[in-house]
Amino acid sequence: MSGNYVGRFAPSPSGPLHAGSMVAALASYLDARAHHGRWLIRIEDVDEDRAVPGAAQGMLALLEALGMHADGEVVWQSRRTHLYAAACAQLAEAAYPCGCNRREIADSRLGLAPDGSAIYPGTCRNGLAAGREGRSLRVRVPDGPAGTMTFVDRFAGTQTQHLDTESGDFVLKRADGFYAYQLAVVVDDGAQGVTDVVRGADLIDSTARQIYLQRLLGLPEPRYLHVPVVRNADGEKLSKQTGALAIDPAQPLAVLMDAANFLGLGLSPLPSVSQFWPAATAAWAQRFCGMQ
Ligand code: GLU
Repeated sequence: MSGNYVGRFAPSPSGPLHAGSMVAALASYLDARAHHGRWLIRIEDVDEDRAVPGAAQGMLALLEALGMHADGEVVWQSRRTHLYAAACAQLAEAAYPCGCNRREIADSRLGLAPDGSAIYPGTCRNGLAAGREGRSLRVRVPDGPAGTMTFVDRFAGTQTQHLDTESGDFVLKRADGFYAYQLAVVVDDGAQGVTDVVRGADLIDSTARQIYLQRLLGLPEPRYLHVPVVRNADGEKLSKQTGALAIDPAQPLAVLMDAANFLGLGLSPLPSVSQFWPAATAAWAQRFCGMQ
């Protein structure tokens, strides 16, 4: 297929890889392989306070051990803040300083965006009130139809989000000084030439904001495929916070088969990791790329 395909796995190093992040890693890897494209790894440690020392190195070692080699140097967001600063400068006309804290935004009771963050009521949109200081930097989203973002997800189909009512003006640089995930991910996908974003469905509601930023920054829009997220018995997304267990590096084939089964690849039992890869790539191509 397309030799221009560039995909990526972009884990936040807030803990070791678990069954949920493994599914996102495998899906992005198989999609890149099925397209004969490149697969990159980006460590999303933009929020340096949440990065657990050693977690990124552990993830990288595990991916290597599973045979998932990146086609290029691993990129670390904590080393790329100059790029995010440059993007904020480029967005200067659409951005403004905001003096509100979390509590004030929650008190405005506009409700929650689909990702659980409180919708911003636009308090500082037309300038900071006297005596207030800017804490964060927000980008203005258009009111009405101009702020309606639509994209076709390769798994979930057509998705539409009205930025004004479902997100509100959102943060580019946080009050603690770190750049926001939404900005960093867009800048990096653009800089790395990513053509295809394959990740967990917990991020599907972020995609409209990311497409909006791509447009403001003049970046191309990648294709998107959001795979279902793995949940625990209580229906919570697996994460360090919900007690997800780290992957057992001693069982590489079982780890890969579990993730492949979750993705519905329908593989029969295989004797080795080396036999897993061609079988899984072919099954992925058939299921998600319309290839036989
Ligand atoms: N760093 C994000 C996470 O681990 C993923 C970002 C993305 O794939 O766009 O949830």
